[in-house]
Amino acid sequence: MSIQNVMSIIKEKGIEFVDFRFVDLSGKAHHITVPASEVSEETFEVGVAFDGSSIPGFRGIEESDMVMMPDTASVFVDPFTAHATLNVMCNIFTPEGERYDRDPRGIAQKAEEYLQTTGVGTAAFFAPESEFFIFDDVRYESGQQGSFYEVDSEEAAWNTGRKEEGGNLGFKIRNKGGYVPVQPVDKQQDIRSEIVRLLVESGLRVERHHHEVATAGQGEINFRFDALTKTADNLLKYKYIVHNTAQQYGKVATFMPKPLFGDNGSGMHVHQSIFDGDTPLFYEKGAYANLSETAMYYIGGILHHAPALIALTNPSTNSFKRLVPGYEAPVNLVFSKGNRSAAVRIPVAAVTPKGCRIEFRTPDSTANPYLAFAAMLLAGLDGIQNKIDPRKLGYGPLDKNIYELSDAEKKEIRSVPASLEEALDALEADHDFLLKGDVFSKSFIENYLDFKRSEAKQVAIRVHPHEYSLYFDC
Ligand code: GLU
Ligand code: MG
Ligand code: MG
Repeated sequence: MSIQNVMSIIKEKGIEFVDFRFVDLSGKAHHITVPASEVSEETFEVGVAFDGSSIPGFRGIEESDMVMMPDTASVFVDPFTAHATLNVMCNIFTPEGERYDRDPRGIAQKAEEYLQTTGVGTAAFFAPESEFFIFDDVRYESGQQGSFYEVDSEEAAWNTGRKEEGGNLGFKIRNKGGYVPVQPVDKQQDIRSEIVRLLVESGLRVERHHHEVATAGQGEINFRFDALTKTADNLLKYKYIVHNTAQQYGKVATFMPKPLFGDNGSGMHVHQSIFDGDTPLFYEKGAYANLSETAMYYIGGILHHAPALIALTNPSTNSFKRLVPGYEAPVNLVFSKGNRSAAVRIPVAAVTPKGCRIEFRTPDSTANPYLAFAAMLLAGLDGIQNKIDPRKLGYGPLDKNIYELSDAEKKEIRSVPASLEEALDALEADHDFLLKGDVFSKSFIENYLDFKRSEAKQVAIRVHPHEYSLYFDC
């Protein structure tokens, strides 16, 4: 979209404010709002200055003065503000006009540019399935909080965070009804439909929404695949609309991977494929799961680099509480068609050549999508460039239920890292694939490791409620 087009939208829609947004290292959006009367074509040409020194993860900035450069392709009218506001995503530049090497959105764009120099293809497409919980926005009294993270019985699992005394004595509708239950077990049909309505109004193509398998209140909305940076923008828009719609209903949404112990967590499976112009590069009729060699090597790259990659796709201490057996979250580094217990799944039902893709199931929504998508693409490309064949390296295909394998068979299978610290150590040891094409810089990786290790430490030094059960009466 041209700058003139944006200026016409501002006029035609009676926009009162323009909201300039960028993302920090964790993938959270920040914004600065400018009255529309102060916005001219020049604003889009020279950008908007801001102080980058107190933004999480932008530590080490020598100069605090930074510039947000708006990307006109990303504008949408904010559905929540009382005053008509146009939101626009920005890239971060230094005052000298250079790309800031820690700007996640800039990294995503560099990954797309790098793909075009490799000769592999012209575009990478991504589609995340970002699951979430919507809880009642009640304040828990002390003593009741336990159930919020400890759902260890079927009865307790029927609750959405509130303690139920002695089971379902109140003859209430069950809260847990398996996968995609209808109403009244599904109590959030209307909230999700409202979210979808706003997403569509804000420019997303939404394919479907449904209740997820966990305790009442877990949902998922799928929007259509798009190019890498565009999809990361879409995901930010999606999370913004989910959070704020829940808020309007007096509830609270969370994308935290494992808010309830003993119940399914929330993942963000990421579907991905590469095209050369109009030609899909992952399809080959008749091969295993109709996958081309290119796709096989892409999978090889993802699985081979997975321990390091996971430091970017599952970058929270909570991420590793989801990656445990028994809750449809992958723990094993194998690929498979259809098998949901594998880290990489190849969907085969109702798939056309253009829809042929791989699904990496490990990620969750604490990932910064710009960094995570860029890193996945780079891992896959490294697999293609080095012909990393997952079949020769013991990564499958494995089409049995992994949870039911014998101990001897299980021993052969590699697992995801057990903790954020382990994933960060893997990233420290294996990140050359991320430096290709200068997509990630060495200093970015060092800063990222420091930033995330500090988060891990903040959690590790705090007393955990369960320590009271284990040790209080020692
Ligand atoms: N919630 C599961 C996860 O943590 C996924 C369920 C599904 O297959 O959609 O990955
Ligand atoms: Mg799901
Ligand atoms: Mg999935």
